[in-house]
Amino acid sequence: MNFAYGNTVLDKTGIVKTVYTSKGAGIWDVYRNEEEQSDIDSYLKLAAYFGTEVTRINRVDQKHTDRIRIVTDDLAGEGVTAPVYSEPCDGMITDRRGIVLATVEADCTPVYLLDPVHGAIGMVHSGWRGTAAGIVLRAMEKMNECYGTKPADLMVAMGPAICGGCYEVGEELISAMKNVCSDEETRRIFRKKDEVKYTLDVSLAVRYTLMSAGVRESAITMPPCCTYENIDIDSYRREKGKKGRMLTAIMLK
Ligand SMILES: [Zn+2]
Repeated sequence: MNFAYGNTVLDKTGIVKTVYTSKGAGIWDVYRNEEEQSDIDSYLKLAAYFGTEVTRINRVDQKHTDRIRIVTDDLAGEGVTAPVYSEPCDGMITDRRGIVLATVEADCTPVYLLDPVHGAIGMVHSGWRGTAAGIVLRAMEKMNECYGTKPADLMVAMGPAICGGCYEVGEELISAMKNVCSDEETRRIFRKKDEVKYTLDVSLAVRYTLMSAGVRESAITMPPCCTYENIDIDSYRREKGKKGRMLTAIMLK
């Protein structure tokens, strides 16, 4: 497989366009200040693919938080053509057409949210920290406050992420994940590898979190592949922390 942009099942609705990028598809810096200005060429190509303006692509300063940014027309371009001025966030929501919500990942689970009933979307970066903090729940709460989204209205797709066979973690994560998973679910997301190591399926934890909040099981699509195993996609673990990142994005058409 060799590709620049992959997309999710949500595109089949005809309401949204989604993307996840392959290795080498672009440099996805955040525009924090003049010194760290983003590489605009990558974003210009992305805007062309989405059929929108580069000034409509949004990034946030991702720090494994559970905070969600509400993006309106006057905030468009933050983190790409304008510096980030909001506090660190790891997800965005909007109901405006032509705004691209973009996060980056390298093994963490990207979560694309679509409420086709109220015409609203969300993009969430959910690593183990964000997942344990319930970031998808925060996104759902904000979508409910702002757009009237109910859990049963939602369609959710996850992008490529490290799988439950490849992601080695320590025992200390078990109690953290119990924040969002029942004891039975916690037993399923962790597998004991040896005396000290476990493997963790973060995407399955996201699935359980969504379902316990009322999202229909049939409306949830799991990751299409594992970032650690698929060499066409950047992986923090496989590449020993190198700088490559996968960009994931969604836009209401
Ligand atoms: Zn894997």
